[in-house]
Amino acid sequence: MTGEIARRTFMLSGAGAVAMGAAGPAVEPAPGDAARSAGSAGGKAMEVYEEPAQEVPIEPEADVVVSGGGPAGVAAAVTAARLGAKTRLIEVNGCLGGVWTAGLLSWILDASNKGGIMAEILAELDRRGALAHYERKCYDPEAMKLLLDQMCLDAGVTVHLHTRAVAAARGGQNRLALAITESKSGRRAFGGRVFVDATGDGDLATLAGCGFDVGREGSGETQPLSMIGLLAGIRREAVAPFVCNLPEAGGHGAAKDRLLAEMRRAGLDPSYARPTMFCIRDGLFCLMANHEYGVPATDADAISQATLRGRAEVHALVAGLRALGEPWAGVQVVATAEHIGVREGRRIHGRYTVTAQDLIDGKRHDDAVCRTTFSVDVHSTSPAKTKGIMHEKVRAKPYDIPYRALIARDVDGLLTAGRCISGDFLAHSSYRVTGNAVAMGEAAGAAAALAASGNRMPHELDWAAVRDAIQSVSRA
Ligand SMILES: Cc1cc2nc3c(=O)[nH]c(=O)nc-3n(C[C@H](O)[C@H](O)[C@H](O)COP(=O)(O)OP(=O)(O)OC[C@H]3O[C@@H](n4cnc5c(N)ncnc54)[C@H](O)[C@@H]3O)c2cc1C
Repeated sequence: MTGEIARRTFMLSGAGAVAMGAAGPAVEPAPGDAARSAGSAGGKAMEVYEEPAQEVPIEPEADVVVSGGGPAGVAAAVTAARLGAKTRLIEVNGCLGGVWTAGLLSWILDASNKGGIMAEILAELDRRGALAHYERKCYDPEAMKLLLDQMCLDAGVTVHLHTRAVAAARGGQNRLALAITESKSGRRAFGGRVFVDATGDGDLATLAGCGFDVGREGSGETQPLSMIGLLAGIRREAVAPFVCNLPEAGGHGAAKDRLLAEMRRAGLDPSYARPTMFCIRDGLFCLMANHEYGVPATDADAISQATLRGRAEVHALVAGLRALGEPWAGVQVVATAEHIGVREGRRIHGRYTVTAQDLIDGKRHDDAVCRTTFSVDVHSTSPAKTKGIMHEKVRAKPYDIPYRALIARDVDGLLTAGRCISGDFLAHSSYRVTGNAVAMGEAAGAAAALAASGNRMPHELDWAAVRDAIQSVSRA
């Protein structure tokens, strides 16, 4: 299949990609013909530009192509490369880490029962002095950036930053063959034997033709986005009662209540009613106090507006605290997230769907990728309901994520990892956190490497072989 693809020209047009014979002519639009009316939407006339087909250069084929370099994607790429697969990692941001770094998250959940890459990352952050002394879930996002770069380079992953997957092409037998990207180098196609979609929003799988779900069943409502900020200029001892991970606060709930009261004393009412501050290290703090409601993860204009609003709110809240005087007199925003945090996008249909009932039952699977211990955690879908966390009826027991939930149902040669795997709304609100995303990435990377080397599809693999492969390269 691979050689066949290399000899063909892929002509891209409009919404998708079609493979043409080598003789297929490139179509030039006639001047003035490019723009035309495309009927109306809601009575409003729409113009469309009919994009001309173009020839896209195909880069040398990899065994494994991972799209999205967040917690799941880095784990997938590193694992695949350590197993000897020639691996490419495509990431649209200028750093690896996704919500960990570009999103400034600074807090890792559901990691304590995870081994492998997750344990390795925590141990290495600790060795570098980049984990908070007070609670070992809190890390320095800049140190995380460097560590993830180094892990990928050491493993031999070819990293393509500033590169977005924008189209996909299938070869024979319903198998994904190319991920087409846009970057400063123009449009390029990356061939691979097996692909992993770790874009969080399931971009590559959707472009390849996979079905997906978004939001709560029935209503489609989604959790809010959040702009996170890093703060400096305050002393740990002085602000300790407001900081969740400091022992003086006496617990997360009490710290959040006090911080909210301080913001209200400053005349401000944050869009997230449970404002949260963590101490990363003396002099550096993380603030999460923003909710952007009703923003679809795949609407660029809506995300853009949410980013502008979120950043403005973080600065306004911090200016309000500063105006109160001590202990806030010197507080400054030293950074806001380059990418606003997106909790949920598309959930790609897989060969198994993790459901709320699985959480209630504490479901076990023979092909368990990891055990999730995090609870159902739905941030409000509407400020009219609450500006905090929604009270859902489901009580989760520890449950397994099966390997089948990572295998795309509708397209072969494609795995998913992280928050875009196959699950329902409530299950996603639990398994989405990054300790699980890393374990899923690790499994997807190992499976991709095994499938590529054995010339098989991911769904044809024996889970025990994937599990053994993960253990064979584990450094934890
Ligand atoms: C505000 C907020 C608070 C959270 N709190 C916590 C917490 O306290 N602890 C915790 O562990 N988790 C938390 N989560 C994490 C979380 O819920 C996610 O589920 C987690 O980020 C999943 O990791 P991921 O790798 O699947 O996705 P992401 O971190 O979103 O990574 C996806 C990556 O893919 C890249 N990408 C996207 N599209 C493309 C494309 N087309 N081409 C190339 N690259 C692309 C992105 O730039 C990104 O780097 C929080 C999330 C948010 C938003």
